[in-house]
Amino acid sequence: MRAAILAKLTYAVGKNPEVASQRDWFIATTLAVRDRIVERWMTSTRATYEAGRKRVYYLSLEFLIGRLLGDALMETGLTEPVRAALAGLGVDLEKLRQIEPDAALGNGGLGRLAACFMESMATLQIAAYGYGIRYDHGLFRQVIKDGWQHEYPENWLAFGNPWEFERPEVDYSVGFGGQVETIEAEDDEVKHIWKPEETVDAVAFDTPVTGWRARHVNTLRLWSARAPDAIRLDAFNQGDHVGALAARVRLEAISKVLYPSDATPAGLELRLRQEYFFVSASLQDIIRRHKQQHGDLRALPEKVAIQLNDTHPAIAIAELMRVLVDLEGFGWDEAWEITTAVFSYTNHTLLPEALESWPVPLMERLLPRHMQIIYLINALHLDLVRSRGEHDGRILSDLSLIDESHGRRVRMGNLAFVGSHKINGVSALHSDLVKRTLFHELDRFYPNRIVNKTNGITFRRWLYEANPGLTALLVDTCGDKVMDDPFALADFETAKDDAGVRDRFAAIRRAKKVELAKIIRERLECKVDPDALFDVQIKRIHEYKRQLLNILEIIALYDAIRANPTGNWVPRVKIFAGKAAASYQQAKLIIKLANDVARLVNRDPAVRGLLKVAFLPNYNVSLAEAIIPAADLSEQISTAGMEASGTGNMKLALNGALTIGTLDGANVEIKDHVGDDNIFIFGLTTEEVDARRRKGLDMADEIGRSPMLEEVLDALESGVFSPGDPARYAGLADAVRHHDYFMVAADFDAYYAKQRAVDARWRDRAAWWRSSIVNTARMGFFSSDRAIAEYASDIWDVPVPPVK
Ligand SMILES: *Cc1c(COP(=O)(O)O)cnc(C)c1O
Repeated sequence: MRAAILAKLTYAVGKNPEVASQRDWFIATTLAVRDRIVERWMTSTRATYEAGRKRVYYLSLEFLIGRLLGDALMETGLTEPVRAALAGLGVDLEKLRQIEPDAALGNGGLGRLAACFMESMATLQIAAYGYGIRYDHGLFRQVIKDGWQHEYPENWLAFGNPWEFERPEVDYSVGFGGQVETIEAEDDEVKHIWKPEETVDAVAFDTPVTGWRARHVNTLRLWSARAPDAIRLDAFNQGDHVGALAARVRLEAISKVLYPSDATPAGLELRLRQEYFFVSASLQDIIRRHKQQHGDLRALPEKVAIQLNDTHPAIAIAELMRVLVDLEGFGWDEAWEITTAVFSYTNHTLLPEALESWPVPLMERLLPRHMQIIYLINALHLDLVRSRGEHDGRILSDLSLIDESHGRRVRMGNLAFVGSHKINGVSALHSDLVKRTLFHELDRFYPNRIVNKTNGITFRRWLYEANPGLTALLVDTCGDKVMDDPFALADFETAKDDAGVRDRFAAIRRAKKVELAKIIRERLECKVDPDALFDVQIKRIHEYKRQLLNILEIIALYDAIRANPTGNWVPRVKIFAGKAAASYQQAKLIIKLANDVARLVNRDPAVRGLLKVAFLPNYNVSLAEAIIPAADLSEQISTAGMEASGTGNMKLALNGALTIGTLDGANVEIKDHVGDDNIFIFGLTTEEVDARRRKGLDMADEIGRSPMLEEVLDALESGVFSPGDPARYAGLADAVRHHDYFMVAADFDAYYAKQRAVDARWRDRAAWWRSSIVNTARMGFFSSDRAIAEYASDIWDVPVPPVK
């Protein structure tokens, strides 16, 4: 390894050790490790080809990957050899790992799921490709100034990306706009030829995705947009230097930035361009590969499964129909059979504002042939529905791919549904709601299409890599098999009555809390006690995730401690991290409130040592890896019915944090696995939320019954937390009082009481650690290996090869 790293430093980076910077060493080390992976990669790719195996294609507009060096070292078993080799050269591996920028090509849970799934597909030796966009700028960098969020561009490619391989020869042309010409063919058939007005090239960049023990390596292929003509020389020579580049800049904007919003309607043409761009390039690639190997496109469903990660790639259904019918000469019915057999679709949300729909005029202008195809799909779909006796206009309009009620729009969810053979939700509760609400009517006419696939997380990153100390304890208590079989964690449970193991677990946690306390001190100039309870809420900032409920509880606790300073309080550190969408004003105000409350609480001598609040800026995968192993309590407090699954909840419970949460998303299944005694569940259920909303959103009754909440809202309204701007939180408080869609007031007292139950458990140290051990031990189900094995057998129809 030492020789390999030195050779890379010399011949690939072009430096000698005396002058090499930490970044030079990072690049040299990465290239040396990459060589080992490339060998496995080629073997895997060749073996898939030779066996003629079916391939899975995971289409996702987001891959929230994070750093790769630590991951690659762990998967290949090279961590210690490389650490030693570098030490011999006077270089610290940990420092190099910190230099790598996070690949933040996603907003949150959906993108992180895609990254975990890629890792598990490689681990299970499923032949798979991920397809997405190589954004020049990923999710924005969050800077907190005076408590407010500011967004700065993120520049992960600034120093190059040593993991990727550019493939200039893999280059497809993607069209936009223009006209559809119809010509009469000899046999009276009408042929449609799309003549796009402009084209852009999609260039491939490949990153190897290594599975556990590097048994198998798959490919993540990301597309970058290139204008066919780099420059208009005539304009340039006439002195118009900017104009000469204008067309190129406009076309290449497609892969410039990740769409910044998490859950708002994508109102921008650029977003639709991004979607079609990566779908078209990916399908061209898939079809080229299939034809080259198998020739006949009729065999496509036997060799190809395409998973749509949410509706962002759903235009692929119309695109495959266009390719088969217009370009390959298939009849409509046969093409439709192939298409529905190939595609499947994962639904990630029921929030109405996040259900994608595109204005028909925009579609007609940008993708005229696709719009025609969607109309035809819709006509045949509605014919089928009518032929089964459905004539109710309201139901027919609900089933239609075209929404006529908000101007005319294409419903991408309905398109994805009718074009797929399986549709899955991401937790048992969510899949049930998908079936009973969003796709209730579609489910009646296409029964047995909706299935559940509860999300999972890869234990390699979220346990072995993030928490080596706990991993070592698990190996010592359960044996080496825990490293290969997530369900072997179950054996850890017997250790809960072993005081020695409990003490070791506590010591491992404490060491991680000391590390996190250092990060908090460095980034926030705030000193926290590693022996306090670390209470963690880390996720996107969103009203439905209810960071506000958590902050109101902090204020109530703060008041209670000041009223009774000598009470038997459990010292707590409240830790927040998360980004708000740049245009989401209410979420940004909640960040400001967390910081305003932190400022007041952290410097108040009356509560010193008992309560601290820390908002860590710029939440990303790397920060999550630092926070999660240090968490005692995991906040999963969304309004019931609104969080589809959550995966942060799984990462935290796996690392032994106890959950305080609502009966929402995968919390329900976490409760089923760990048992009622080892989780703190509170609040309204989905049905109770619905019923409460039907009564209206004014919370006067609830607030009247809660002097504590009244006091908290009074404090907000009187400007206690915003002395320079007393009106700042008046709107926030007013919403809780009178338009409380998210049920903050309705759940407040139950939440406060449950937090006191958490305090009581914390005081009983043995009981706390017993619960903590049970949480880790029973998380096997939440491995993404389990989730992927279910997709493979129930949706993709690909075998999971036995481990060898
Ligand atoms: C896991 C993860 C998420 C998803 O968190 P939830 O709590 O499920 O919303 C978002 N961002 C990052 C960086 C993550 O690692």
